[in-house]
Amino acid sequence: MADADTDPDTLQARGTAYAIPMRTRFRGVTVREGFLVHGPAGWGEFSPFAEYGPAECSRWWAACHEAAVEGWPRPLREWIPVNATVPAVGPEDAHRVVTESGCHTAKVKVAERGQSLSEDIARVEAVRDALGPAGHLRVDANGAWDVDTATHAIRELDRFGLEYAEQPCPTLTDLACLRRAVDVPIAADESIRRAEDPLRVRAAEAADIVVLKAQPLGGVRNALEIAEACGLPVVISSAVETSVGLAAGVALAAALPELNHACGLATMSLLTADVCDEPLIPTEGALPVRRPDVDAERLAAVTVDPEAWRARAHAAWEHRYQ
Ligand SMILES: [Mg+2]
Repeated sequence: MADADTDPDTLQARGTAYAIPMRTRFRGVTVREGFLVHGPAGWGEFSPFAEYGPAECSRWWAACHEAAVEGWPRPLREWIPVNATVPAVGPEDAHRVVTESGCHTAKVKVAERGQSLSEDIARVEAVRDALGPAGHLRVDANGAWDVDTATHAIRELDRFGLEYAEQPCPTLTDLACLRRAVDVPIAADESIRRAEDPLRVRAAEAADIVVLKAQPLGGVRNALEIAEACGLPVVISSAVETSVGLAAGVALAAALPELNHACGLATMSLLTADVCDEPLIPTEGALPVRRPDVDAERLAAVTVDPEAWRARAHAAWEHRYQ
């Protein structure tokens, strides 16, 4: 039923694979890899992480297919406020990252292995100083704390005023327990990998806010439905994609009926190159709602052998529709 331009086999056969070194290690990844396809609606990105099998990848493919074939719903806003991300660095560097970003919201990495709470406190204090009293400051522990440690740490760090604490503990049970013990709102990030997870988070009363990403949730429309069904406030985050993939996150943030928090979409700076001539980089703490064009020369500079990615995309597509 699909015509030649929208048929997944055709899209995949014409797709281009990329490999782009990262400036800093992320999830143990030092080179970000993915697959880009072009359809009647524009470019789509398929870049599931290496450990994901066809079931998981099928949602990432659905997001790519939506971008290339259907396009996205109408935006409700023109700019998306974004947060600066402060890695587990010393206070001077943390201060500089925030000042240079121009963002009014900062997410500070805490609970880094081998570091102490006093290092987290010094970093958060420096970030508050850089943001000023009106800025929003959130911390992200990536699930590294147990409930008691999180309770103590969040109370200490909240001296500097926390917007929320992202994934302080690993499990929904721990998050729910912590949430009853502290006044700071809790956000779920790693707890959400599949479409049904936001509803589980809500049912467990484990978080006040959910972090949603377009690719793992099967695209902009699916993520919008999930956000509506979940009913909790949402923060849209990226999966550290090129500007092609980031544009889907921007489209999702732009189409949400309500958006009350800055989004984690200022991640282009984590990659050493992009495939677009006007990358999605924030200006004064916000990203414009637009869809950048792929630049042939920039794409050629990062292109790698597409065979493995074609096979992966094909397996993802087959899994979805078998
Ligand atoms: Mg996080």
